[in-house]
Amino acid sequence: MSKVLRNAVIGGGVAGLTLSLGLSDSTLFDSGEYHIYQPSLLYTSLYGKDEKKRSIANIYRGEFRNEKVKKIDLDDRRIISNKNEYTYDRVIICTGTYPDPGSIEGLGRLAEDSGDFVSSYTNAMKVYSRISSMKSGTIVTGITYPVYRFPPVAIEFTILLEEILRKRGVRKNFEIKFISPFIGAYPARVMDSVLTPIMKERGIEIISPFNVDRIDVNKREIYSLEGDSLIYDHAFLVPPFRGTDIIDKCVNEDGFINTDKEKLNIKGYDDAFALGDVTSIPSAKSGATAYLEAKTLLRRFKGEDALYDGRTNCPVYVGDKRATFVVSNYRHEALRIYPRRSYYYARKFLDMFYFYLIRHTELIDSYLRRFDPERFRSQEHTQQGP
Ligand SMILES: Cc1cc2nc3c(=O)[nH]c(=O)nc-3n(C[C@H](O)[C@H](O)[C@H](O)COP(=O)(O)OP(=O)(O)OC[C@H]3O[C@@H](n4cnc5c(N)ncnc54)[C@H](O)[C@@H]3O)c2cc1C
Repeated sequence: MSKVLRNAVIGGGVAGLTLSLGLSDSTLFDSGEYHIYQPSLLYTSLYGKDEKKRSIANIYRGEFRNEKVKKIDLDDRRIISNKNEYTYDRVIICTGTYPDPGSIEGLGRLAEDSGDFVSSYTNAMKVYSRISSMKSGTIVTGITYPVYRFPPVAIEFTILLEEILRKRGVRKNFEIKFISPFIGAYPARVMDSVLTPIMKERGIEIISPFNVDRIDVNKREIYSLEGDSLIYDHAFLVPPFRGTDIIDKCVNEDGFINTDKEKLNIKGYDDAFALGDVTSIPSAKSGATAYLEAKTLLRRFKGEDALYDGRTNCPVYVGDKRATFVVSNYRHEALRIYPRRSYYYARKFLDMFYFYLIRHTELIDSYLRRFDPERFRSQEHTQQGP
């Protein structure tokens, strides 16, 4: 057993890195060497772009341990990694979410053949190579199960794929069908009413609710729990996602950690916390959520009575150099924000300067303040605009 860790932060993604950068005495664990900017998977799958990643040790100059945490005993305050054993004063679990294609029959094989745009660079490259070579047919895209990483990602992928085919002059050779387990394409009703007309206008058929039951990859047919089926030539689907198996208790049926939605402690513990995608908190699994939760917890660690208000902020490219945002908090399910060109450039800015911004967070903070649901609701941006 080695030394007692003051703040053991598990996972160097958006939540873990934001938290560690704000603490003077943390030990950051990650099974990988790199912090990955996950939106780049979308650009790899559609445009063949490189994965955007940086060495964690390069961003975080404190104590970094490149170790995989295998178990945490919350009662004994003990961490077991693949290399060592530790005790801690406080633990903050930020291990994100992982894809579980094996939970749906046939989905694992589909992902091996055609990849997907949300789980890894290898899978995203498979999507890119498929998109680059396909000539015609029925494309099925969408969401297989209600719990997954980054709610707008499948709609964004589909709209941008349509744009690529249109610009290549081959759009007429394809039918595009979008499946969703929700009522409508997007889970939040108000935002669905912004995104659905755009999809329809681009000739994308929305089929919902459609919860994927199984896929027959030989017949190229997808079956739903609702009793429907769909034939495809090309399918690019978001798999179900799961939480974690490093703790045995305090998790829900999908492995997400039961976390107090405002104070961010693991329920029943005052020395254990969870942030980001790994929690059961009813807020979008997004980088903005992970970031804002980490900022709230930093304030709480300083003795302030700060509470996380459920705020999230998910940018969505809708093609033709326009974008919108899904902005919500616990009080507002989502605001109605129509796409604009200026939002496209705001998102591009984040894509380009992410690794600078994660270390200089004043810019992110002022941007998030500008789009605060309480202020933003009454502004002209909720009208159709340029
Ligand atoms: C295609 C795509 C587009 C996206 N676009 C956006 C966007 O535009 N805006 C937005 O806000 N969000 C976006 N997201 C979502 C966003 O990237 C995630 O929600 C965010 O990264 C979650 O942060 P996190 O810190 O909870 O987890 P992650 O960033 O996933 O980090 C988890 C870390 O934990 C480490 N880890 C896991 N298990 C262990 C273990 N046992 N031991 C040690 N280390 C471990 C992992 O290696 C990883 O580094 C997108 C995601 C995808 C896939």
